[in-house]
Amino acid sequence: MLGILGGGQLGRMLALAAHDLGVATRCWDEQADAVAGHISPLHVDRFDAPSKAKLDAFLDGLAAVTTEWENVPVALLETIAARGVPVRPNPAALRTAQDRLLEKQLAERLGIAVPAYAPANSRDELASAIARVGLPCVVKTRRFGYDGKGQFICRVMDDLDACWAALGAAASGDNARGGGLIVEAFVRFTREVSIIAVRGVDGDTRTWPLVENVHAEGILRRSVAPAAGTVARQAEAEKIARLVLDALEYVGVLAVELFDTLDGLIFNEIAPRVHNSGHWTINASVTSQFENHARAALGLPLGDTSMLHPRLAAGMINLIGTMPDRAAILSACGGAAKLHDYAKAPRPGRKLGHINLTASNPEHLASAMAAVEALMGHREG
Ligand code: AMP
Repeated sequence: MLGILGGGQLGRMLALAAHDLGVATRCWDEQADAVAGHISPLHVDRFDAPSKAKLDAFLDGLAAVTTEWENVPVALLETIAARGVPVRPNPAALRTAQDRLLEKQLAERLGIAVPAYAPANSRDELASAIARVGLPCVVKTRRFGYDGKGQFICRVMDDLDACWAALGAAASGDNARGGGLIVEAFVRFTREVSIIAVRGVDGDTRTWPLVENVHAEGILRRSVAPAAGTVARQAEAEKIARLVLDALEYVGVLAVELFDTLDGLIFNEIAPRVHNSGHWTINASVTSQFENHARAALGLPLGDTSMLHPRLAAGMINLIGTMPDRAAILSACGGAAKLHDYAKAPRPGRKLGHINLTASNPEHLASAMAAVEALMGHREG
């Protein structure tokens, strides 16, 4: 049985893939209505102060524990590892991936291009960090930011007051509780890409084709793979992913988010888990990111990450805030649109599901995605 810390849609899809391998799952979430609970037994407790008896019950019979939420307290991961249950990826890898400063320092140490950056823990430090990094810049909380939350773009020095008003509360204090800011130079990227990679217990490492991503309001809207014109970029991204995976002695799936620029790829951040920009692998790859993450976590051989057909083009459209008409989506493109509904209550900005599409070439994929987006009543990018 595989233990999964976190019970959102990622845990739900991971549980589905594990069950196909004949592996039972037990998910842990702080919320009793977490959607992985529809698929898997759900253990409900706090992550930061679990009761001893409940932790014993969660760990009973588990072959390994993995995470679908990167902010699980490292102390809990260490406690589980000390109990002799393999934690994959390892707690130290999670510690690095939880902190934008630590992950940028790691990338820099590995010779990976990063934007100019500087940490700041007070208003004065923020002013000098912005002066050092230059304008425009993006100020982010080091921890707990996601989907563009906890971020502020400063274009001129006069933006400092508004930036401090927005993020100052998160600036100081204990980093384990989210203290600290990082100032990053604003990258003038041509597009955003990501590479999903997996590393097994034996060090076997595989990557999926490079993904091109479109965000709006900090939230991923759509992904296309393979990203266009990418032979050189694929090699560059794979090299980055392998450097990070090996340095962290990582086991499982990891996503590296990158900015594509005229000067090459620039590191943005890593996600130590299955990733939204890898959801298309469910319908387009020989082995999905979810299946390979389960395989890796359990110490099983990794699956082939190739496309189902050599020239297959794959796309993913996120369903955010409201669900489109189910019958309209299912009948779109002659029934080719694959709906993945997480069965969540609708809420503005919430990821409720996604639609995967595949086509025999990028042009056909683009028209299928446009047709589906038109049905959704909102077209992005
Ligand atoms: P993040 O949470 O770091 O992935 O940031 C969310 C989104 O904000 C990214 O996908 C980019 O679109 C944008 N963004 C983040 N950092 C930068 C940066 N240094 N320069 C330009 N845009 C950025």
